[in-house]
Amino acid sequence: SVKGKVTAGDVDNLAPLMPLCMKEMHSHLQKENHLRHGGRMQFGLFLKGIGLPIEEALVFWRQSFSKITDDQFAKNYAYNIRHNYGLEGKRVDYSPYNCMRIITSNQPGPGDHHGCPFRHMGRDGERIRARMLADGLSESDAQEVVNLVAGQHYQIACTKHFELSQKARTPQETGSAGGVRTIEHPNQYFDQAYRLREG
Ligand code: SF4
Repeated sequence: SVKGKVTAGDVDNLAPLMPLCMKEMHSHLQKENHLRHGGRMQFGLFLKGIGLPIEEALVFWRQSFSKITDDQFAKNYAYNIRHNYGLEGKRVDYSPYNCMRIITSNQPGPGDHHGCPFRHMGRDGERIRARMLADGLSESDAQEVVNLVAGQHYQIACTKHFELSQKARTPQETGSAGGVRTIEHPNQYFDQAYRLREG
């Protein structure tokens, strides 16, 4: 994916290349300096997938959880982060979750920020519409995404969002309708966006 090693300090700069699910968790983490377990798993494994090594992951999460002490961090969070990297417990080197898993399992409850926003932001589509407009999509493009969500085509909605928000960032690519594979994995979204940006 990313050329060379990703550091804790790179994560904020890479956020615009992340799919909506990861952007939501990243911005929540920045605002609240906390993320519940489901979010730490989904976002943490995604970050591992983009190339954040364990030592940098520990720095990133420690800095993000800025309202707690080093001691609380070590006791309550460091183990799970190392666990995701296969350094604790059964030493399984866990893989980042794909879209199907995120959409169909471990549904987010109140106060959770994990999941797929296209699936979990509400059936009426108003929050998704507002989010698409905030991302610079036109009214008609936002409506297209809302329609896809209403038809439960969440990954196609995400693919549309990719085309409209990522391709729009690289003018030479705009207008080429085909070419983008349906998003099946958050790390696929990121890799495609990264390649577009790096050319
Ligand atoms: Fe994330 Fe996949 Fe949903 Fe896109 S479709 S927001 S990558 S879970």
